[in-house]
Amino acid sequence: MTRKEFLKLLGLAGGGGLLYLAGRSWLFKDPPGEGQGRLTAEDGQWRPAYAVLEEDGRLAERVEQAYSVMENCRLCPRRCGVNRRAGQRGFCRAPEKAMVHSHQPHFGEELPLVGRGGSGTIFFSNCNLRCVFCQNWPIAHEGWGREVSDEELAEMMLDLQRLGCHNINLVTPTHVMPNILGAVRIALQKGLQLPLCYNTSGYELTEMVRLLDGIVDIYLPDIKFMDGLEAERYNLAAAADYPQMAKESTIEMHRQVGLVITDEHGIALRGLMIRHLVMPNRVAGTRELVQWVAANLPKETYVNIMSQYRVEFMAFDFPLIARAITSEEFVEAMGWAREAGLTNLDERSLSNYEIHRRRAS
Ligand code: SF4
Repeated sequence: MTRKEFLKLLGLAGGGGLLYLAGRSWLFKDPPGEGQGRLTAEDGQWRPAYAVLEEDGRLAERVEQAYSVMENCRLCPRRCGVNRRAGQRGFCRAPEKAMVHSHQPHFGEELPLVGRGGSGTIFFSNCNLRCVFCQNWPIAHEGWGREVSDEELAEMMLDLQRLGCHNINLVTPTHVMPNILGAVRIALQKGLQLPLCYNTSGYELTEMVRLLDGIVDIYLPDIKFMDGLEAERYNLAAAADYPQMAKESTIEMHRQVGLVITDEHGIALRGLMIRHLVMPNRVAGTRELVQWVAANLPKETYVNIMSQYRVEFMAFDFPLIARAITSEEFVEAMGWAREAGLTNLDERSLSNYEIHRRRAS
């Protein structure tokens, strides 16, 4: 099958992988999230969700609510119950202040996030999931980085805006969500106007994601496992509830922001973008993932099926994941996506499909 034929089968031929849906809130099955109705921007000016919430006088209250959760920390499904504001640390080992490894424009993210100016990534140190195959292990597992105040974090966001980035891409944000909200409010007062992209492992508590309603514009959950046993096996501390947490929170993310909406240049302004890394020996449950998306979300949901799994960190000690994926495995994964009827697959995943298809044949 040629790439064109494959795209045609997916209903994408000639149309690219994106939907340009500005203001079409009627497309959402469930009640839309806060601020969404304002996206129609009667004055023609798009505004990030958090700016709308601040206009309504409700952003400060959210910052306060989020920080209060830290006092008996249950920001994520680990629910450690430690008082991080009093210096205690839980599973993620994060202190009260955010720790940042780096911030810079990133050109390797999904094309609607990258555009011409790059995605404004902020890499947070530590992680609440901690997979044994982590590709960012020095940052996520070993906590490389430095503590920053909310004011400094706000300056990083403004730096990224000055550099021409199209969004603020918060990488591994879950355990520092209150700090992010505090910083966003400060940055907004100093002129921040970029969409916030919540780039998460998917190990989220739905009630915490609800706190982000009307603040986050783009959700980017990387759904890693569909089987609790695999999630248990390949995380430093078992996370058997990972699939359930990831599925429930992704539904909530979609309720808030819906399908991807782009500007006239194809740059994402709002919406849900799902990532999924294909792993060797079907460990990630790709078939179950695409079937779940097709059954629980619109088939036009943006899905990036990624092929770049590599053996990192402790993965050498786990025989089933101690190798790269084969071309056959990636072709199989994309075939499942097609069979499930998904119609908005990431452009790069489609290109990779073509490369792997040729290698496999
Ligand atoms: S954010 Fe960290 S301290 Fe809080 S519940 Fe999660 S792992 Fe525990």
